[in-house]
Amino acid sequence: MLMNFVISSSMKKIQMVDLKGQYNKIKEVVDASVLEVLDSTAYINGPRVHQFQKNLENYLGVKHVIPCANGTDALQIAMMGLGLQPGDEVITADFTFAATVEVIALLQLTPVLVDVDPVTFNIDVDAIKKAITPKTKAIVPVHLFGMCANMEAIMEIAKSHNLFVIEDNAQAIGSTYTYSDGTKAKAGTIGDVASTSFFPSKNLGCYGDGGAIFTNNDELAHTIRGIVNHGMYERYHHDVVGVNSRLDSIQAAILDIKLERLDSYNRARQVAARAYNKAFENQENIIVPTGKTVCSGICSDCDCHVFHQYTLRVKNVDRDALVKHLNEQGIPCGVYYPIPLHRQKAYVDDRYNESDFPVTNQLVKEVISLPMHTELDAEQIAFITSTVINFVNS
Ligand SMILES: *Cc1c(COP(=O)(O)O)cnc(C)c1O
Repeated sequence: MLMNFVISSSMKKIQMVDLKGQYNKIKEVVDASVLEVLDSTAYINGPRVHQFQKNLENYLGVKHVIPCANGTDALQIAMMGLGLQPGDEVITADFTFAATVEVIALLQLTPVLVDVDPVTFNIDVDAIKKAITPKTKAIVPVHLFGMCANMEAIMEIAKSHNLFVIEDNAQAIGSTYTYSDGTKAKAGTIGDVASTSFFPSKNLGCYGDGGAIFTNNDELAHTIRGIVNHGMYERYHHDVVGVNSRLDSIQAAILDIKLERLDSYNRARQVAARAYNKAFENQENIIVPTGKTVCSGICSDCDCHVFHQYTLRVKNVDRDALVKHLNEQGIPCGVYYPIPLHRQKAYVDDRYNESDFPVTNQLVKEVISLPMHTELDAEQIAFITSTVINFVNS
């Protein structure tokens, strides 16, 4: 105890996400931009929103970015834009945040949850193939924890079965996917359409709620621009049932400043992840996340992983006791996600068998996400990793 006190007394307080530390470094420029928007009174659909949209299109290398109010709306609007109809089956991962399945159900589409891959935590390609029926209309891969799903295989399946692909890119903005021939594309620019979230703790987060939809399809972009604005394509002519979903100018101004820094923010996350990986090397009961085995398997190191979360699997140890111990030592951590979606009350269904989800059922017992953000320092990482290792081996 005494020793831990001595170590931690000189150390910055450890946080799961350090928004304050990050803000302090860009405070001057952010404050000036926000004041500028306040002064302009162009609070909604102002020039800052348009400017951010253009800058994000350039950054991603995608033809259209349509800003909206949050990442959940973005998913819903993407599905509305594709014209999916009640009863259409949409395949997505059992191991993800509930927003993904929520909007499928809300639109009266039929969610089809499938198992994930134990190494990448992303949707399992063979499980997708098995789940396809004549009613299947779309696949929603979620680039979980900052790592791109196996898009090359997923796009191939989609093409051969004539399915739409909607990428849930809320956790992986800035991640680069590498195809087997070596060509690269940014996560969120590969499927028919993608959604993202600018929730404050995401890799590109604003200071409130925000989201966006990406697509390279001109017609779909046009449809979606009407849907986000009450189904209006001409003022006060409502051609389709739409929604009201907007990114406000203050958030756009903040996002523009953070977009310029997104690559360096993601690099800081990768540096922290590598330091964690190194410290856990040779630990039999700790499985670290890897960036090497994904994409087509040829990318070096952790390029395709932008570490929205740094998530371990722990073996032969009481995970919940580890969480408690870390919290007692002043180390916040998270369990993403403790319950598979197929067992959530809102989404249970007779169609599912427990034997269809061996990986998810195992992961929910083993996963633990350690502090991950742009401001972690070596001393904090050393304290976190030694605390984890001591507990796991005790
Ligand atoms: C955060 C998140 C969302 C929802 O984004 P909001 O902006 O909070 O609505 C959707 N999907 C995934 C995978 C997320 O992590």
